[in-house]
Amino acid sequence: MIEMKNVSKWYGPVQVLTDCSVSIKKGDVVVVCGPSGSGKSTLIKTVNALEPIQQGEITVDGTRVNAPSTDLPKLRSRVGMVFQHFELFPHLSVTENLTIAQIKVLGRSADEAKVRGLKMLDRVGLTAHKDKFPGQLSGGQQQRVAIARALSMDPIVMLFDEPTSALDPEMVGEVLDVMVGLAKEGMTMMVVTHEMGFARKVANRVIFIDVGGHILEDCGKDEFFSHPENRQPRTKDFLSKIL
Ligand code: ADP
Ligand code: MG
Repeated sequence: MIEMKNVSKWYGPVQVLTDCSVSIKKGDVVVVCGPSGSGKSTLIKTVNALEPIQQGEITVDGTRVNAPSTDLPKLRSRVGMVFQHFELFPHLSVTENLTIAQIKVLGRSADEAKVRGLKMLDRVGLTAHKDKFPGQLSGGQQQRVAIARALSMDPIVMLFDEPTSALDPEMVGEVLDVMVGLAKEGMTMMVVTHEMGFARKVANRVIFIDVGGHILEDCGKDEFFSHPENRQPRTKDFLSKIL
């Protein structure tokens, strides 16, 4: 579903991704972890070309992300993205947040978009809040709306960039529960998170990326957690700080 081959990226003179190769199959749930500044956000943003790359190749469901002929709006409409800070439109109601891209990008009718959006809102348990504005919701609720918004586009892949790290601790669970549900239904997911409980529960792979954008580990979940003796020293050091 996602194939990254020897991807490198620089910001000016600074290399932030170094020869990264990742292969994600349909239904995979891949957790990406690593220290602050290691390139996790940059890595997942390259998947839908929110960040350009200077070397290597990325394909999503057979579409070459970096080919000049690629229809980026179309590609992005198939790749759902959920950010740390929700990024809802503050001046639009929850329902409008759920429908606007369906109408503008997918060309759905307002009625069709509303039916789909409200179905996804129900799935994240927020039907009662459909007419509110984002500012009237808690952080956890806003993030669940952001997930519902992404799902309304019928994505083939979902990318999450630290979706719970801006939340008060008591709201982390409600967002993770939605993500666990998605994972169990077979959604292909690439999730930047330090929530190792989530990783243990539903990930099938864990990638550890170190400063400079070096992928140091890419292994099965069981191997990652059950055989700490096989981990790289940098990974052990990182895990000792977050676990
Ligand atoms: P992470 O998500 O792992 O914390 P990022 O992908 O955000 O890391 O950043 C990786 C590196 O790239 C960091 O050194 C960061 O300072 C740098 N960086 C991120 N965005 C930009 C940018 N727009 N311009 C220049 N440097 C950037
Ligand atoms: Mg980041």
